[in-house]
Amino acid sequence: MKVPPVFEYVRVDSLNDLYKNVNQYSFPLIISGGTVAVLMLKNRVIRPDAVIDISGIEDLNVLNLDKEKDEVFMGSNIKLYRLKSLLPDDSASELVTKSASTVGDIAIRSVGSVGGNVCLGDPGNDLPVALTAIGAYAVIGSQESIRRVPVSDFYVKPFKNVLKKGEILLGVSYKRLYGYRTSYKKHFLNFLDHYVGIVAALAKVEGKSIKDLRMAAAGEAIGTPVKIDISGFSSVDDAVSIKKKLIDCLNSLPMHDDRFGTIKFKKRILSALMFQAIDEVLGP
Ligand SMILES: Cc1cc2nc3c(=O)[nH]c(=O)nc-3n(C[C@H](O)[C@H](O)[C@H](O)COP(=O)(O)OP(=O)(O)OC[C@H]3O[C@@H](n4cnc5c(N)ncnc54)[C@H](O)[C@@H]3O)c2cc1C
Repeated sequence: MKVPPVFEYVRVDSLNDLYKNVNQYSFPLIISGGTVAVLMLKNRVIRPDAVIDISGIEDLNVLNLDKEKDEVFMGSNIKLYRLKSLLPDDSASELVTKSASTVGDIAIRSVGSVGGNVCLGDPGNDLPVALTAIGAYAVIGSQESIRRVPVSDFYVKPFKNVLKKGEILLGVSYKRLYGYRTSYKKHFLNFLDHYVGIVAALAKVEGKSIKDLRMAAAGEAIGTPVKIDISGFSSVDDAVSIKKKLIDCLNSLPMHDDRFGTIKFKKRILSALMFQAIDEVLGP
Protein backbone atom coordinates (compact mmCIF):
# COMPACT_ATOMS: atom_id res chain seq x y z
CA MET A 1 0.00 0.00 0.00
CA LYS A 2 1.22 3.48 -0.87
CA VAL A 3 1.31 5.82 2.11
CA PRO A 4 1.49 9.61 1.75
CA PRO A 5 4.13 11.61 3.64
CA VAL A 6 3.28 13.26 6.95
CA PHE A 7 1.48 16.61 6.69
CA GLU A 8 -1.06 18.74 8.54
CA TYR A 9 -4.60 18.42 7.19
CA VAL A 10 -6.64 21.60 7.37
CA ARG A 11 -10.25 21.83 6.17
CA VAL A 12 -11.38 25.41 5.61
CA ASP A 13 -14.91 26.64 4.99
CA SER A 14 -14.33 30.28 4.09
CA LEU A 15 -11.94 32.24 1.89
CA ASN A 16 -10.65 34.22 4.88
CA ASP A 17 -9.80 30.99 6.65
CA LEU A 18 -8.11 29.70 3.52
CA TYR A 19 -5.89 32.77 3.02
CA LYS A 20 -4.91 32.74 6.70
CA ASN A 21 -3.86 29.10 6.52
CA VAL A 22 -2.19 29.24 3.11
CA ASN A 23 0.08 32.02 4.34
CA GLN A 24 0.92 30.17 7.53
CA TYR A 25 2.67 27.17 5.93
CA SER A 26 5.79 27.16 3.77
CA PHE A 27 4.59 24.55 1.24
CA PRO A 28 0.81 24.18 1.41
CA LEU A 29 -1.09 22.02 -1.10
CA ILE A 30 -4.62 23.03 -1.99
CA ILE A 31 -6.96 20.14 -2.57
CA SER A 32 -10.54 20.19 -3.89
CA GLY A 33 -11.85 16.85 -5.25
CA GLY A 34 -8.48 15.21 -4.65
CA THR A 35 -8.69 12.92 -7.71
CA VAL A 36 -5.11 13.78 -8.66
CA ALA A 37 -3.77 15.51 -5.55
CA VAL A 38 -4.26 12.36 -3.45
CA LEU A 39 -2.44 10.26 -6.06
CA MET A 40 0.42 12.77 -6.07
CA LEU A 41 0.61 12.56 -2.27
CA LYS A 42 0.51 8.77 -2.21
CA ASN A 43 3.26 8.55 -4.81
CA ARG A 44 5.20 11.22 -2.89
CA VAL A 45 5.53 13.33 -6.03
CA ILE A 46 4.91 16.28 -3.70
CA ARG A 47 5.70 16.66 -0.01
CA PRO A 48 3.64 19.56 1.35
CA ASP A 49 3.79 20.56 5.03
CA ALA A 50 0.00 21.07 4.94
CA VAL A 51 -2.91 19.96 2.79
CA ILE A 52 -5.58 22.65 2.72
CA ASP A 53 -8.94 21.16 1.78
CA ILE A 54 -11.07 23.84 0.12
CA SER A 55 -13.99 21.59 -0.87
CA GLY A 56 -16.15 23.01 1.94
CA ILE A 57 -15.91 26.64 0.76
CA GLU A 58 -19.44 27.23 -0.52
CA ASP A 59 -18.49 30.62 -2.03
CA LEU A 60 -16.43 28.64 -4.58
CA ASN A 61 -19.32 26.30 -5.35
CA VAL A 62 -21.39 28.87 -7.22
CA LEU A 63 -22.30 29.64 -10.79
CA ASN A 64 -23.04 33.33 -11.35
CA LEU A 65 -24.54 35.03 -14.38
CA ASP A 66 -23.65 38.69 -14.77
CA LYS A 67 -26.56 39.93 -16.89
CA GLU A 68 -25.04 43.37 -17.50
CA LYS A 69 -21.74 42.03 -18.87
CA ASP A 70 -23.40 38.86 -20.20
CA GLU A 71 -20.69 36.82 -18.45
CA VAL A 72 -20.66 33.46 -16.72
CA PHE A 73 -18.58 32.80 -13.59
CA MET A 74 -17.94 29.14 -12.67
CA GLY A 75 -16.67 28.71 -9.12
CA SER A 76 -13.65 26.47 -8.63
CA ASN A 77 -15.38 23.93 -6.41
CA ILE A 78 -18.15 23.07 -8.86
CA LYS A 79 -18.00 19.38 -9.68
CA LEU A 80 -17.55 18.68 -13.38
CA TYR A 81 -20.70 16.53 -13.70
CA ARG A 82 -22.85 19.47 -12.55
CA LEU A 83 -21.82 21.80 -15.40
CA LYS A 84 -24.24 20.22 -17.86
CA SER A 85 -27.25 21.19 -15.74
CA LEU A 86 -25.84 24.46 -14.34
CA LEU A 87 -24.48 26.26 -17.41
CA PRO A 88 -26.79 28.59 -19.35
CA ASP A 89 -27.87 28.12 -22.94
CA ASP A 90 -25.24 29.72 -25.19
CA SER A 91 -22.47 28.54 -27.52
CA ALA A 92 -19.53 29.16 -25.17
CA SER A 93 -21.26 27.20 -22.41
CA GLU A 94 -22.08 24.44 -24.90
CA LEU A 95 -18.38 24.01 -25.70
CA VAL A 96 -17.46 23.98 -21.98
CA THR A 97 -20.14 21.34 -21.34
CA LYS A 98 -18.92 19.19 -24.25
CA SER A 99 -15.39 19.36 -22.88
CA ALA A 100 -16.35 18.64 -19.24
CA SER A 101 -18.50 15.67 -20.22
CA THR A 102 -15.48 13.90 -21.75
CA VAL A 103 -13.32 14.09 -18.59
CA GLY A 104 -12.41 10.59 -17.39
CA ASP A 105 -15.48 8.58 -16.39
CA ILE A 106 -18.51 9.45 -14.26
CA ALA A 107 -16.61 8.64 -11.05
CA ILE A 108 -13.92 11.21 -11.90
CA ARG A 109 -16.47 13.81 -13.03
CA SER A 110 -18.49 13.34 -9.82
CA VAL A 111 -15.52 14.15 -7.61
CA GLY A 112 -13.24 16.26 -9.85
CA SER A 113 -13.74 20.03 -9.76
CA VAL A 114 -13.46 22.89 -12.23
CA GLY A 115 -10.56 24.38 -10.22
CA GLY A 116 -8.62 21.11 -10.07
CA ASN A 117 -9.06 20.60 -13.81
CA VAL A 118 -7.86 24.10 -14.64
CA CYS A 119 -5.02 24.30 -12.09
CA LEU A 120 -3.38 20.92 -12.60
CA GLY A 121 -1.81 21.89 -15.93
CA ASP A 122 -1.68 18.32 -17.23
CA PRO A 123 -1.48 18.52 -21.07
CA GLY A 124 -4.42 16.10 -21.17
CA ASN A 125 -6.77 18.28 -19.13
CA ASP A 126 -9.96 19.04 -20.98
CA LEU A 127 -11.45 22.28 -19.69
CA PRO A 128 -8.39 24.48 -20.42
CA VAL A 129 -8.68 23.73 -24.16
CA ALA A 130 -12.35 24.73 -24.39
CA LEU A 131 -11.73 27.74 -22.11
CA THR A 132 -8.81 28.90 -24.28
CA ALA A 133 -10.95 28.62 -27.41
CA ILE A 134 -13.75 30.78 -25.96
CA GLY A 135 -11.33 33.36 -24.52
CA ALA A 136 -12.11 32.67 -20.84
CA TYR A 137 -10.33 34.23 -17.86
CA ALA A 138 -8.92 32.61 -14.73
CA VAL A 139 -10.12 34.61 -11.71
CA ILE A 140 -7.34 34.48 -9.11
CA GLY A 141 -7.74 35.54 -5.50
CA SER A 142 -5.38 36.32 -2.65
CA GLN A 143 -5.81 37.98 0.74
CA GLU A 144 -4.98 41.35 -0.87
CA SER A 145 -6.63 41.31 -4.30
CA ILE A 146 -8.36 39.58 -7.18
CA ARG A 147 -6.79 39.45 -10.65
CA ARG A 148 -7.94 38.07 -14.00
CA VAL A 149 -5.60 36.25 -16.36
CA PRO A 150 -6.61 34.88 -19.79
CA VAL A 151 -6.68 31.07 -19.55
CA SER A 152 -4.37 31.10 -22.60
CA ASP A 153 -1.73 32.81 -20.38
CA PHE A 154 -2.42 30.80 -17.22
CA TYR A 155 0.17 28.08 -17.90
CA VAL A 156 3.93 28.55 -17.73
CA LYS A 157 4.64 24.95 -18.79
CA PRO A 158 3.00 21.55 -18.18
CA PHE A 159 2.04 21.21 -14.48
CA LYS A 160 3.08 24.82 -13.76
CA ASN A 161 0.63 27.71 -13.71
CA VAL A 162 0.98 31.39 -12.83
CA LEU A 163 -0.48 31.09 -9.31
CA LYS A 164 1.85 32.53 -6.68
CA LYS A 165 2.06 31.43 -3.07
CA GLY A 166 -1.01 32.72 -1.23
CA GLU A 167 -3.11 32.74 -4.42
CA ILE A 168 -5.97 30.45 -5.33
CA LEU A 169 -8.13 30.02 -8.39
CA LEU A 170 -11.54 31.38 -7.41
CA GLY A 171 -13.09 30.32 -10.68
CA VAL A 172 -13.30 31.00 -14.38
CA SER A 173 -15.30 33.64 -16.21
CA TYR A 174 -16.24 33.98 -19.85
CA LYS A 175 -18.47 36.00 -22.15
CA ARG A 176 -21.50 34.17 -23.44
CA LEU A 177 -21.48 33.62 -27.21
CA TYR A 178 -24.53 33.10 -29.38
CA GLY A 179 -25.24 31.40 -32.67
CA TYR A 180 -21.95 29.48 -32.95
CA ARG A 181 -21.41 25.87 -33.95
CA THR A 182 -19.06 24.06 -31.59
CA SER A 183 -16.82 21.01 -31.88
CA TYR A 184 -14.69 19.17 -29.33
CA LYS A 185 -12.36 16.34 -30.37
CA LYS A 186 -9.70 14.27 -28.64
CA HIS A 187 -7.60 11.19 -29.23
CA PHE A 188 -6.23 8.80 -26.60
CA LEU A 189 -4.12 5.67 -26.80
CA ASN A 190 -5.92 3.96 -23.88
CA PHE A 191 -9.19 4.96 -22.18
CA LEU A 192 -8.53 7.02 -19.01
CA ASP A 193 -4.95 7.48 -20.12
CA HIS A 194 -3.33 10.65 -21.39
CA TYR A 195 -4.59 12.32 -24.54
CA VAL A 196 -2.31 12.69 -27.54
CA GLY A 197 -4.34 15.56 -28.95
CA ILE A 198 -7.32 17.69 -27.96
CA VAL A 199 -9.01 20.28 -30.20
CA ALA A 200 -11.84 22.71 -29.43
CA ALA A 201 -13.37 24.88 -32.16
CA LEU A 202 -16.31 27.19 -32.67
CA ALA A 203 -17.56 29.23 -35.59
CA LYS A 204 -20.28 31.72 -36.32
CA VAL A 205 -21.47 31.29 -39.87
CA GLU A 206 -24.19 33.26 -41.68
CA GLY A 207 -25.03 31.83 -45.08
CA LYS A 208 -21.56 31.08 -46.45
CA SER A 209 -19.97 33.94 -44.56
CA ILE A 210 -17.67 33.26 -41.58
CA LYS A 211 -18.30 35.92 -38.93
CA ASP A 212 -15.96 34.40 -36.34
CA LEU A 213 -13.78 31.28 -36.18
CA ARG A 214 -11.79 30.15 -33.15
CA MET A 215 -9.74 27.11 -32.24
CA ALA A 216 -7.48 25.89 -29.42
CA ALA A 217 -5.47 22.71 -29.05
CA ALA A 218 -3.54 20.82 -26.39
CA GLY A 219 -2.74 17.25 -25.40
CA GLU A 220 0.57 15.47 -24.92
CA ALA A 221 1.60 16.42 -28.48
CA ILE A 222 1.65 20.12 -27.59
CA GLY A 223 1.80 20.52 -23.79
CA THR A 224 0.02 23.62 -22.58
CA PRO A 225 -3.08 24.79 -24.46
CA VAL A 226 -2.49 27.09 -27.43
CA LYS A 227 -4.80 29.34 -29.39
CA ILE A 228 -4.64 28.46 -33.07
CA ASP A 229 -4.87 31.58 -35.22
CA ILE A 230 -7.22 30.93 -38.11
CA SER A 231 -8.74 34.39 -38.24
CA GLY A 232 -9.00 36.28 -41.52
CA PHE A 233 -11.03 33.72 -43.48
CA SER A 234 -14.39 35.03 -44.64
CA SER A 235 -16.14 32.16 -46.44
CA VAL A 236 -16.89 28.52 -45.70
CA ASP A 237 -15.54 27.89 -49.23
CA ASP A 238 -12.09 28.74 -47.76
CA ALA A 239 -12.07 25.41 -45.86
CA VAL A 240 -9.16 24.07 -47.94
CA SER A 241 -7.05 27.20 -47.28
CA ILE A 242 -7.97 27.05 -43.58
CA LYS A 243 -6.72 23.46 -43.41
CA LYS A 244 -3.47 24.50 -45.14
CA LYS A 245 -3.04 27.21 -42.51
CA LEU A 246 -3.67 24.63 -39.79
CA ILE A 247 -0.83 22.51 -41.16
CA ASP A 248 1.45 25.60 -41.09
CA CYS A 249 0.41 26.23 -37.47
CA LEU A 250 1.16 22.62 -36.55
CA ASN A 251 4.58 22.81 -38.20
CA SER A 252 5.42 25.89 -36.12
CA LEU A 253 4.60 24.21 -32.77
CA PRO A 254 7.52 22.64 -30.89
CA MET A 255 7.04 18.86 -30.62
CA HIS A 256 9.27 15.90 -29.88
CA ASP A 257 9.26 12.11 -30.06
CA ASP A 258 8.26 10.46 -26.77
CA ARG A 259 6.15 7.62 -25.36
CA PHE A 260 3.02 9.21 -26.84
CA GLY A 261 4.41 8.89 -30.36
CA THR A 262 6.71 10.35 -32.95
CA ILE A 263 6.37 13.95 -34.12
CA LYS A 264 4.95 12.63 -37.40
CA PHE A 265 2.29 10.62 -35.56
CA LYS A 266 1.34 13.55 -33.32
CA LYS A 267 0.96 15.90 -36.28
CA ARG A 268 -1.18 13.33 -38.06
CA ILE A 269 -3.46 12.97 -35.03
CA LEU A 270 -3.75 16.71 -34.44
CA SER A 271 -4.36 17.56 -38.10
CA ALA A 272 -7.08 14.87 -38.28
CA LEU A 273 -8.79 16.28 -35.16
CA MET A 274 -8.48 19.85 -36.45
CA PHE A 275 -9.87 18.98 -39.89
CA GLN A 276 -12.81 17.10 -38.33
CA ALA A 277 -13.51 20.09 -36.07
CA ILE A 278 -13.38 22.51 -39.05
CA ASP A 279 -15.73 20.30 -41.07
CA GLU A 280 -18.12 20.21 -38.14
CA VAL A 281 -18.22 23.95 -37.45
CA LEU A 282 -18.15 25.13 -41.08
CA GLY A 283 -19.94 22.22 -42.73
CA PRO A 284 -23.55 22.23 -43.96
C1 LIG B 1 -8.29 7.85 -13.79
C2 LIG B 1 -8.25 9.35 -14.06
C3 LIG B 1 -8.72 9.83 -15.28
C4 LIG B 1 -8.69 11.20 -15.55
N1 LIG B 1 -9.15 11.62 -16.75
C5 LIG B 1 -9.13 12.95 -17.03
C6 LIG B 1 -9.61 13.42 -18.30
O1 LIG B 1 -10.07 12.68 -19.16
N2 LIG B 1 -9.57 14.76 -18.52
C7 LIG B 1 -9.09 15.65 -17.60
O2 LIG B 1 -9.11 16.85 -17.85
N3 LIG B 1 -8.63 15.23 -16.41
C8 LIG B 1 -8.65 13.90 -16.09
N4 LIG B 1 -8.19 13.47 -14.87
C9 LIG B 1 -7.60 14.46 -13.96
C10 LIG B 1 -8.51 15.00 -12.82
O3 LIG B 1 -9.25 13.99 -12.25
C11 LIG B 1 -9.46 16.10 -13.26
O4 LIG B 1 -8.71 17.08 -13.95
C12 LIG B 1 -10.20 16.76 -12.09
O5 LIG B 1 -11.05 17.77 -12.59
C13 LIG B 1 -9.29 17.38 -11.05
O6 LIG B 1 -10.11 18.00 -10.06
P1 LIG B 1 -9.91 17.73 -8.50
O7 LIG B 1 -10.88 18.61 -7.80
O8 LIG B 1 -10.00 16.28 -8.20
O9 LIG B 1 -8.43 18.26 -8.32
P2 LIG B 1 -7.43 17.97 -7.10
O10 LIG B 1 -6.89 16.60 -7.24
O11 LIG B 1 -8.05 18.34 -5.81
O12 LIG B 1 -6.30 19.06 -7.45
C14 LIG B 1 -5.57 19.00 -8.65
C15 LIG B 1 -4.53 20.13 -8.65
O13 LIG B 1 -5.17 21.39 -8.70
C16 LIG B 1 -4.84 22.19 -7.58
N5 LIG B 1 -6.07 22.91 -7.23
C17 LIG B 1 -7.32 22.40 -7.11
N6 LIG B 1 -8.21 23.39 -6.91
C18 LIG B 1 -7.50 24.54 -6.87
C19 LIG B 1 -7.87 25.91 -6.70
N7 LIG B 1 -9.14 26.32 -6.54
N8 LIG B 1 -6.88 26.85 -6.71
C20 LIG B 1 -5.57 26.47 -6.87
N9 LIG B 1 -5.18 25.20 -7.04
C21 LIG B 1 -6.14 24.24 -7.05
C22 LIG B 1 -4.33 21.22 -6.53
O14 LIG B 1 -3.40 21.86 -5.66
C23 LIG B 1 -3.67 20.16 -7.40
O15 LIG B 1 -2.38 20.57 -7.77
C24 LIG B 1 -8.20 12.12 -14.57
C25 LIG B 1 -7.75 11.61 -13.34
C26 LIG B 1 -7.77 10.27 -13.08
C27 LIG B 1 -7.28 9.77 -11.75
